Amino acid sequence: MSDTVLEARALAKHYPVSTGFLKPKALARALDGVSFALGAGKTLAVVGESGCGKSTLARQLTMIEPPTSGALLLDGADVTQADAHLKKRLRQQVQMVFQNPFASLNPRKKIGHALEEPLVINTSLGALERAERARAMLARVGLRPEHAARYPHMFSGGQRQRVAIARALMLAPKVVVLDEPVSALDVSIQAQVLNLLMDLQDQTQVAYVFISHNLAVVELIADEVLVMYLGKVVEQAPKQALFAAPRHPYTRALLTSTPRIDVQARQTRQVLTGELPSPLNPPSGCAFHKRCPFAVARCAVEVPRLESLGGRQLVACHRVHEIG
Ligand code: SF4
Repeated sequence: MSDTVLEARALAKHYPVSTGFLKPKALARALDGVSFALGAGKTLAVVGESGCGKSTLARQLTMIEPPTSGALLLDGADVTQADAHLKKRLRQQVQMVFQNPFASLNPRKKIGHALEEPLVINTSLGALERAERARAMLARVGLRPEHAARYPHMFSGGQRQRVAIARALMLAPKVVVLDEPVSALDVSIQAQVLNLLMDLQDQTQVAYVFISHNLAVVELIADEVLVMYLGKVVEQAPKQALFAAPRHPYTRALLTSTPRIDVQARQTRQVLTGELPSPLNPPSGCAFHKRCPFAVARCAVEVPRLESLGGRQLVACHRVHEIG
């Protein structure tokens, strides 16, 4: 049992959105009551279609914007209640790696400079020590210390993502939020970067929140999986349970798009049809009911609650016991 480093309690983010001149603003429920606890050295994968709330969740976890309601605890400290001083300290503990490493690196700054930047802002280390730490971090992510003198365009995509990971780790954070960190890379390079992430986690016990639409990648790296649909968690389970026996119809449909070796998994395939509805105008009842092959009348009127199936698998579906 690991220590919890990051905990979300009913985290919600609602945005008022203009619907037209002189019309009242509508409320987009981009994130609607998400809860989880993430232990040190563990990886929580967040999956779902584009627009399901993954990026909004990332912005909450990295404290880029405050939640509308709910609480976020980092190492037991409530971020949502923290004063500016404490918030600044807590922010250092959660770092982010983006999908496109080129966009997150300044093309005019040498890599060594990019790695030293967090130390300049957040520590009182001298120039020599900062440079030494930057070179040491480059070695830890599989690059050479002399790469510190190069510019971003002199690296391959995989190398740039290694630099982005190195920069995220410069302040020894407790949590790194990885937003589709390998989806822009070739498959062979993806495996190298994922292995690097897992090695670094073994060494440092950093916790990852791994945002991805690619379930094959998630199956490799996750300990726990959170499946999101229209701002809500519809299934949450340890990786093995989720991939062996997905219980929510949406999770099953997502797995359909993932090549599986397991024969049983192939037999229970289910095709996902239709588009993700707008969070401005979500369907009544279960938000998935217009796309769900198991929907009955109750599904259109009653919102299913996220409930435990026993153990650590949670599912929000009225018919979970009937559809097996
Ligand atoms: Fe499908 Fe109904 Fe379950 Fe929603 S509650 S996933 S519509 S069966």
